[in-house]
Amino acid sequence: MAVKITLLPGDGIGTEIMASAAQVLSYVAGKFNMDLSLSEHLIGGASYDAHGTPLTQETLDACYQSEAVLLGAVGGYKWENLEHKMKPEAALLKLRKSLGLFNNVRPAKIYKALIDGSSLKREVLEGTDFVVLRELTGGIYFGEPRGYADKKGWNTMEYTRPEIERIAIQAFEMARLRDKRVMSVDKANVLEVSQFWRKTVAEVHEQYPDIDLKNMYVDNAAMQLVRNPRQFDVIVTSNLFGDILSDIAGMITGSLGMLPSASLGEKYALYEPVHGSAPDIAGQNKANPIAMIDSVAMMFHYTFRNQQAATMITNAIETTLAQGYRTADIFSDGDTLVSTTEMTEKIIANLAL
Ligand code: NAD
Repeated sequence: MAVKITLLPGDGIGTEIMASAAQVLSYVAGKFNMDLSLSEHLIGGASYDAHGTPLTQETLDACYQSEAVLLGAVGGYKWENLEHKMKPEAALLKLRKSLGLFNNVRPAKIYKALIDGSSLKREVLEGTDFVVLRELTGGIYFGEPRGYADKKGWNTMEYTRPEIERIAIQAFEMARLRDKRVMSVDKANVLEVSQFWRKTVAEVHEQYPDIDLKNMYVDNAAMQLVRNPRQFDVIVTSNLFGDILSDIAGMITGSLGMLPSASLGEKYALYEPVHGSAPDIAGQNKANPIAMIDSVAMMFHYTFRNQQAATMITNAIETTLAQGYRTADIFSDGDTLVSTTEMTEKIIANLAL
């Protein structure tokens, strides 16, 4: 039976990089004799223009019926002044919530060819390879009560036991496929909600005696990420802390155009680059497609459990970079400047090796 994948290109460079991803996806699936059924749907500004809403029930239903969703990016100048719930970005929040995507996975790994482009020193970065698991549907971003008045503003950081347990399970399961180390990050020296987080993660850990669990305060974790990123394997943390730490982790390993992500739930999975729709370069064939293509590699890894296919894609990216091909965002003197479509062709040529 064909494997159903929903493609949501979105706006701006989203459509350009999705074309790249679809080519890579079809090529790799062909190599592994996977029968794919790809269906493309509108989201974001493109959906608003066509249907008066950034996320239609039809698009949502297509996602419910697929094994994985691949998303480009949404947003652009044209839709900036719409009311909040009609904005392209509102579609993303609704989509993540509707699909129950509670675990946002952001890998931090450095491509050898780009190591000198990072703001950190080569000797600090070499060998860095970890993932940040950010709890995505709870915590202070959703806790009640929330609000502000004349003299004060307030939010509530809260977690229930099941919310912590399910992401802890994903962290330990992921560590089993990696270096078997989990770092749970919290602020248990100050926050009761963090003390509860720490206690619950420790209880889940009893089922995973083969995994090494350590705890770290978030302020120390922020420092350790830039001081010695090699020490981490799987980091698991709450929504707010994860929001900040995953951006730090992203920047130690290079450009926005290089960062893939996965958002996983019990039943559904969505893969997307970390960056937005880049309206400043949209339609110019300049966008870096690597974050999007690497998101396809994550799809093979997490949804199809096909590590060989995932590695095939990341190796092809590594080889293409080693050959000196660069889109404008990662270009420096001596490199060969290529367009979105050329970069995609080079990567596909290297997949064939
Ligand atoms: P952005 O990520 O779109 O762009 C920031 C800068 O990085 C721009 O200069 C852009 O040209 C560059 N850039 C980003 N991705 C690139 C790529 N693949 N290749 C080369 N250069 C790249 O962020 P922004 O400018 O703050 O936001 C633009 C729009 O995207 C806004 O409407 C914003 O709300 C939306 N946005 C969407 C998502 C998403 O869909 N997940 C995420 C962030 C922002």
